[in-house]
Amino acid sequence: MAGSGRAAEFGILFKGGEHLEQTHRIDAIILDKTGTVTKGKPELTDVLTERNEAEFLRLVGAAEKNSEHPLAEAIVEGVKAKHIELPGTDSFEAIPGFGIRAVVEGSDMLIGTRRLMDKFNVDATEAYASMSKLEESGKTAMLVAINHEYAGMVAVADTIKDSSAAAVSRLKEMGLQVIMITGDNERTARAIADQVGIDHVRAEVLPEGKAEEVKKLQAEGKKVAMVGDGINDAPALATADIGMAIGTGTDVAMEAADVTLMRGDLSSIPDAIFMSRKTMRNIKQNLFWALGYNTLGIPIAALGFLAPWVAGAAMALSSVSVVLNALRLQRVKVRG
Ligand SMILES: [Mg+2]
Repeated sequence: MAGSGRAAEFGILFKGGEHLEQTHRIDAIILDKTGTVTKGKPELTDVLTERNEAEFLRLVGAAEKNSEHPLAEAIVEGVKAKHIELPGTDSFEAIPGFGIRAVVEGSDMLIGTRRLMDKFNVDATEAYASMSKLEESGKTAMLVAINHEYAGMVAVADTIKDSSAAAVSRLKEMGLQVIMITGDNERTARAIADQVGIDHVRAEVLPEGKAEEVKKLQAEGKKVAMVGDGINDAPALATADIGMAIGTGTDVAMEAADVTLMRGDLSSIPDAIFMSRKTMRNIKQNLFWALGYNTLGIPIAALGFLAPWVAGAAMALSSVSVVLNALRLQRVKVRG
């Protein structure tokens, strides 16, 4: 109670005492990528242009404002975050699978893939090298042509949570094997894993395959924790020895998990393990002292050397010492 109460103050909710007791046993941890290691929402990350950047972004943002695509939303939000006011558009057309075409203040804007540029006979070959570089680092790059001339490119990507890298290195320090799992392709997965220091990656895993990966590790004799946020993580969260759900994720994931990490960042994982270790050590100390009093007291009392009131006091003292020791858990500090 003292341990899980203290953990709750740090936003780590154990569903029951047995989960708090089991958490310190885990030796392998599987992290879902999207929404767990990363924020799960694309953001504007790169702007490459030889024109005036603010003016370029103003036109790009205005053109994308009409699109409902999540990547377009990311661009518009990124432009607005730079306090750039977006003008209206004269016309807009979404070209599914290619990109968009819009007219903004008389400029004919094309934003999209290499194929979109080819389709409109725009020569953007000069941009291909830097575009591939962005793609290799797991980003989605879009080419921009203004009045049928290549003008620059923007890239969006699902970015990593600020706390992820530090949390991963703490988990490794604790001696855990850290594995990242995702449905994404190998290249994107590797790029993210490298940035946070994860060596083991399972990419292109189908949603139903996540629980299989947990079972595989368990078959090697490992105690496995799974950390996820999505509905598709639920079977794996339930299969793992300890399932941890990110509090900013779906209700289904939290329902299936044994622990909910309310803060939504990964530093709660080493904190949870730390709290579990502290609590188990405390429980062992309590057992030692409770038994110690009795193994000392009973023989002495049996031989008639202990007055009944002293025996009674010793009995009460053993309970008091156990409770006092347990209450020390309320002062435990985590690194957060
Ligand atoms: Mg996810």
